[in-house]
Amino acid sequence: MTCAHLQAIAAGCDPSFTVDAARVTFGSGALAEVGDRARALGVTRAALFTDRQLRALPWFAEVETALRGAGIELAIFDEIAIEPTDRSFDDAVRFARDARVDGYVSLGGGSVIDTCKAANLYATHPAELRAYVNAPLGDARPIPGPLAPHLACPTTSGTGSEVTGIAIFDWLAHHAKTGIASPRLRPTEAIVDPRCTHTLPASVVAASGMDVLCHALESFTARPSTTRAMPAPATARPMSQGANPWSDLGCREALRLCHAFLVRAVRDASDHHAREQMMWAATLAGIAFGNAGVHAPHAMAYAVAGRVRTFHPDGYPGTDAIVPHGMAVAVNAPAVFRHTGPTSPVRHREAAALLGARGEIADTDGGHALAEQIIALSRAIELPNGLAGVGYTAADIDALVAGTLPQQRLLTNAPCPMPESTLAALFTGALAYW
Ligand SMILES: [Zn+2]
Repeated sequence: MTCAHLQAIAAGCDPSFTVDAARVTFGSGALAEVGDRARALGVTRAALFTDRQLRALPWFAEVETALRGAGIELAIFDEIAIEPTDRSFDDAVRFARDARVDGYVSLGGGSVIDTCKAANLYATHPAELRAYVNAPLGDARPIPGPLAPHLACPTTSGTGSEVTGIAIFDWLAHHAKTGIASPRLRPTEAIVDPRCTHTLPASVVAASGMDVLCHALESFTARPSTTRAMPAPATARPMSQGANPWSDLGCREALRLCHAFLVRAVRDASDHHAREQMMWAATLAGIAFGNAGVHAPHAMAYAVAGRVRTFHPDGYPGTDAIVPHGMAVAVNAPAVFRHTGPTSPVRHREAAALLGARGEIADTDGGHALAEQIIALSRAIELPNGLAGVGYTAADIDALVAGTLPQQRLLTNAPCPMPESTLAALFTGALAYW
């Protein structure tokens, strides 16, 4: 099946898909626009979210100058946890409420942007944390109305958080990563200045680049949106609506760009062109996955990141054990695509070709060919070798499966069922690749 939208659609399934995207401004120097753009949205006093490392970089000064130059008062919050938790979300919400702002600006990676989304949500529509959090851990209550304007300025070429309505955090009491997902959470505008990638350490470019790659691959191979049941009411169509012709567009181009530029961007910090192209790939893949949804590699990644014991990669601040998000996703990806290959052989083969697979690939080998390309890329940018490379052994598989099962929003977006036994086999297959 190449395009489900050209095929007969089963009774009760959803023949339509919705295209949702924030306004995006992309280009070198775009940060200078943030003041005018905030003012045009009616912002007079903004909460500016960033982290301590960024506060010392020129990008922060540019944003601060642009906002103040537009006559906007600022309240600055820089106490962002690298991996946000319910506790760090609470601190941010309290700050936002006390600061009495009418708009938000975030400058940073996914953690900063996600924290800003949560602060805006709970300051605008106060509720207990669990109210809007995804089921089964939270109540998944719909957000009752619009939020205050939020201008998101990403500084890493990875998460795509600036164009999605998703905020992820670690719920400490539950020992689980979960999140909030709603179109209302999507930033009002994304201001993407690819110069921000010039100052990133190579290991951050590598991990976030694999996140981009997986956003594109998972959205491209997610179950087709036409196989999901009709939503009732129509406005309840989920953001994770499955692969559709709109998300396919962004995925294909993001994959092509990852193949052309990821290795260059990691190996040579002075290759600004490659780094900037990865920022564009991140934006495209973010728009795609915000409209299609990711699946098993991301669901498994939350367990991989959440149960880390001692691993700490070079280039990341502090000494705490951490598996960066993109790395936690990438270690699962080859095992998953080997398994999902038969669900859409042509798509897996096409993805492998976009990532540089040469020669004839039989349809039946699509998943394996794709896995080989991901492994080759991982090696070229010196990513850890599978789960063992980030400190796990076969004895951890049960715990990793248990940590993945709560991610039903993602698991049901996979192209085939993902029961406990399958997840155990996938984690086993992900222990080491070379
Ligand atoms: Zn991701």
